[in-house]
Amino acid sequence: MIQSMRHTTRIITIVALSVLAATPVSAQTKVIRAGKVWDGSRTLTDVAIVIDGDRITRIDSAKEPAAAGAEVIDLRRYTLLPGLIDLHTHMTYYWDRQPGTRPLGQRRRPAVTVFLAQENARRTLETGVTTVRDLGASNETDFAMRDLIAMGAMPGPRMIVAGQGISAARQATGPDPGAMRSAAEDRIKNGSDWVKVYASRGSFDSVDTTQTLTFDEMKAIVDAAHGRGHKVAIHSYGASGVKDAVRAGADSVEHGVDLDQETIAEMVKGGTVWVPTIDHNRYYVDAKDEYGFKPEAIQPLQDYIQRNLDATRRAVKAGVRIGMGSDAVFSMFGQNTRELGWLVKAGMTPAEALAAATTTAADLLGMPGRLGRIAPGYAADVVAVEGDPLQSIDVLFTGVRVVMKDGKIVVDKR
Ligand SMILES: [Zn+2]
Repeated sequence: MIQSMRHTTRIITIVALSVLAATPVSAQTKVIRAGKVWDGSRTLTDVAIVIDGDRITRIDSAKEPAAAGAEVIDLRRYTLLPGLIDLHTHMTYYWDRQPGTRPLGQRRRPAVTVFLAQENARRTLETGVTTVRDLGASNETDFAMRDLIAMGAMPGPRMIVAGQGISAARQATGPDPGAMRSAAEDRIKNGSDWVKVYASRGSFDSVDTTQTLTFDEMKAIVDAAHGRGHKVAIHSYGASGVKDAVRAGADSVEHGVDLDQETIAEMVKGGTVWVPTIDHNRYYVDAKDEYGFKPEAIQPLQDYIQRNLDATRRAVKAGVRIGMGSDAVFSMFGQNTRELGWLVKAGMTPAEALAAATTTAADLLGMPGRLGRIAPGYAADVVAVEGDPLQSIDVLFTGVRVVMKDGKIVVDKR
């Protein structure tokens, strides 16, 4: 009798263990019920996204029973997208809107800026962006934000950061590739994930396209960074700087107008990602009163937008890899994905534009197996949008309702 009871108990234990092995359910398992999912390349309907901890483990048919005991999140009324990637932000550019102040020119201690810039991080998450490449900050404030967010001590998108951008020395007497090489080495030693280079003038209300670094200087930076396994983003407002940046081997080129066919062909051949940042000048026009820009600055900004868009249209047609970057600063956070509207205007389908903020961006960041898709093995970054951004990209700008990052819901506006 006793023998037989022991035997039965053992059988029950074995059965229970094998059920657990078939559907591993831990306290951290979540199941998202989805009606429509754009997974980074295809549209799936009626599926269950199974998440364990911070990773997606399976995509099941919705008809199969969900893992027993898992938390079920019903997002069937939304369109789901992978967490988006903004390839160009300045998260630590913070304006507290105190009366009598402008976004530019506020002074405060770096730690105070890091604390206040949480608001920029939160606004960015609310747009569906769960990863940013932050291209330029002072006093290591971007390193601090990156690390705090990675620790879970501050809510925000994961940050890949450049620290202080490299620009021509103010007192430079001529090109100095050696100095540029050591600047790149210093940045990397100090903790920069990427190296950011300012190879021309142009920013805020200035659309000055003057090139400020030579081809040899850019090449010295790129070679130094690549030799240490780091990538380089080069800012250039004008065509000559873009051309030299591409020839020098930049991984991405930021901004730019009037690109010639030779440069475009070189980008296609070398796989250079172009981040045109068309929308940031639209923002400067809209925010002109906050900044106190002079009225005569507006028409040049409008002209630049048009030339920026024209060049993007030609690049899209030629097959250049385009990345989405907002160049968000100060009060632009919360508008991070508006760039996608311009990419559609430049001739991309909404799905192609979304690829600029998912798969292409993840490739550029060297994280193609982890970010930019809703698929097994990927980070559990999921955005739920009211409406269908694959039909009309505009619904994304106001329609983000739920954002999950690393398996945790970080925005919930249901
Ligand atoms: Zn920028």
